[in-house]
Amino acid sequence: MTSNKTTLSPSGHCILVGAGPGDPELLTLKALKAIQAATVLLVDDLVSNEIVAFARPEARIVYVGKRGGCKSTPQAFIEKLMLMAVREGENVVRLKGGDPFIFGRGGEEVEHLRAAGIEVEVINGITAGLAAVTSLGVPLTHRQHAHGVVFVTGHTKPGDTGTDWRALADTAHKARLTLVIYMGVSGAGRIQNELLTGLPASTPVAVIQNASLPTQRHITTTLGALADAIHEAGLASPSIIVVGDVISDVVLAAAHPEAVRAA
Ligand code: SAH
Repeated sequence: MTSNKTTLSPSGHCILVGAGPGDPELLTLKALKAIQAATVLLVDDLVSNEIVAFARPEARIVYVGKRGGCKSTPQAFIEKLMLMAVREGENVVRLKGGDPFIFGRGGEEVEHLRAAGIEVEVINGITAGLAAVTSLGVPLTHRQHAHGVVFVTGHTKPGDTGTDWRALADTAHKARLTLVIYMGVSGAGRIQNELLTGLPASTPVAVIQNASLPTQRHITTTLGALADAIHEAGLASPSIIVVGDVISDVVLAAAHPEAVRAA
């Protein structure tokens, strides 16, 4: 006997999977199972090879980031590929760095698929901002230092007005919020100048590149010296910039390691 499901739903399905910040051990079990069950995987640039290696040997792997060949595959084409594969009955996993719904254009992909009548599941991943700060051993919130946290992008669509850094600086100062800035390294000079309108130049800042990977590097500095410090250290994308007093413990530890160890 054929079940209703098989008769009525010949198409495959699609799951947006968060691959986390890079370290394969930071994958969720749910993400791992979805990757192992996929017949087609569409993979972003920031997903590490060790994670892609969890896929079945016969799965079709399509790299849709810069390493796929061109500068980066246009979003509309990625969405079309996903749609076609689902309609061909494939189990499609769209593998995205960090969390699919944090600056990953996951929202747009889900909207597109749902508009085409396809059900999409989303599996969270550990977002880079969270992993980057944790890798320094500091929390994003702290009863004495920060009452909340803002994840914000330093990069906006061409033509957009972009983030209102002045308003954000003012709010972060008054409400004691940690700022976690994605895609901010290339615009660090502008972000620094705007944030200085509302935050003191002495505000501690950390910049973490390749968080959770063996190639991870970081610097700690102050808001007043941010762009120069990034330039001197030669930090580049992918990096997270963290602004706020939660970072002060790391700065102190770097300056007086013995004192902190003893405390
Ligand atoms: N969806 C992703 C973010 C995609 S936007 C997430 O939730 O993490 C891409 C930006 O994320 C990069 O420019 C960088 O700012 C940040 N990023 C991603 N992986 C990173 C890593 N391992 N270390 C530091 N920053 C990272």
